[in-house]
Amino acid sequence: LDEAIERATSRCGIIVIAMKASILAVGAELLAPGREETNSAYLTSALSEIRIPVVFRGVVGDDESGIAAAVRHGLECGELVILTGGLGPTLDDCTRDGVASALGRQLREDTRISEWLRARFRARGLVMPELNLRQAMVPEGAEVLPNRKGSAPGLFIALRDDAGPSEAERFVVLLPGPPREMVPMFEEHVRHRLETLGTGEQVLTRKLWVAGLPESSVEHAILDVYQGVDNPETTILAGPGQVEVRLTATAPSAQDATKLLDSLAQPMRRRLGAALFSETEESLEQVVGRRLKELDWKLTLAESITGGLIAHRITSVPGASAYFERGYITYSNESKTELLGVPSDLFASAGAVSEEVAVAMATGARERAGANVALSVTGIAGPSGGTKDKPVGLVFASVAGHSGVRTKKLLLPGERKYVQQWTAAVGLDLLRRELEGISEA
Ligand code: ATP
Repeated sequence: LDEAIERATSRCGIIVIAMKASILAVGAELLAPGREETNSAYLTSALSEIRIPVVFRGVVGDDESGIAAAVRHGLECGELVILTGGLGPTLDDCTRDGVASALGRQLREDTRISEWLRARFRARGLVMPELNLRQAMVPEGAEVLPNRKGSAPGLFIALRDDAGPSEAERFVVLLPGPPREMVPMFEEHVRHRLETLGTGEQVLTRKLWVAGLPESSVEHAILDVYQGVDNPETTILAGPGQVEVRLTATAPSAQDATKLLDSLAQPMRRRLGAALFSETEESLEQVVGRRLKELDWKLTLAESITGGLIAHRITSVPGASAYFERGYITYSNESKTELLGVPSDLFASAGAVSEEVAVAMATGARERAGANVALSVTGIAGPSGGTKDKPVGLVFASVAGHSGVRTKKLLLPGERKYVQQWTAAVGLDLLRRELEGISEA
């Protein structure tokens, strides 16, 4: 609390607390593999819109003491704790009990809820089982939030801290688990209450997407820009063939947060050079599609190792029919000759996975499809098929355009699927460079 008051800023004589939040997802099923926990991501994004940064997220089983401990921890981290799930009528639903225990409050029956629940059952010609009364038990002082989509009411609890100034309130909010109930309840009954409280800090993020470089090279290129800087915070997230540099700035206003983001993004942009392809979450296939449209060019693909993965990415962009002419999936040597005109003696002299074949595939596809530009990929995805000279992960990508052919050779680590995904990203990036007039491959 002291820290909260320290962060408080004085505006027009009113003390404004910069609020920080924790989100707890409750449910044993969320701890088992296979069940996706989506409520926290939704709430984090919604809270960020109303300027409440989330500093802690957790998943707790249906365990009263575990829930109580998590709530106490959340209240140590900040002024707001939102829990979702575990509000049902059965004995394993114990979020209400855990919260009451953490706050040292009694659970009391709220007769408006019990009446409402009984009426719900009556409307369906049923008598409410006594067990369902559990849903009417609320911690003292809690405000009830109606549930339009289900039977579990939500709860909004304001905790006034006697030790601090009267504005130094903390809040615990309980919402139902099913997203179809949780989202409308948050939007209709919680957002506006928090909006007036979240007058603290604005949190903005910016994502710099980089292609064709491994995570370590990206880090090496920008390390001295972000080392020692904790606002914005820099996180590097790697995916196959693509790395995200995520900057998160916290400031009193959006303008200040944007300035902070710019102060780091600008030098990073210079360091990353042509490898940086998006700052607006535009994917490689979207950048390629946009450029093809601007140039009014047609694209064709000749895929061996990726078996159609690149065509899938290209056609996942709405409006791709304006520029995607056709794709060839040529897995066998015969198909490369038959469909693309690759000279059959090349397979014996250079091998199917070679620069020569990649170039012949791209030029052949471009010519046969009558397209302006063609991308080809050939490689060894593994796990078998590699040799000493041509190991698993060896890949060639070629782009044939108006001004000639450019080829990239790579040696990719990892398992089959990963090699294929990397190859697709590298191929799309080579194409992007051709379309953006970037000379380096
Ligand atoms: P109700 O009794 O009205 O269903 P509840 O609060 O008891 O509400 P839970 O029993 O905890 O809800 O969860 C019901 C279902 O909602 C879960 O089986 C799961 O499918 C979904 N759910 C719960 N929590 C989450 C979460 N954090 N993210 C995504 N889905 C969730």
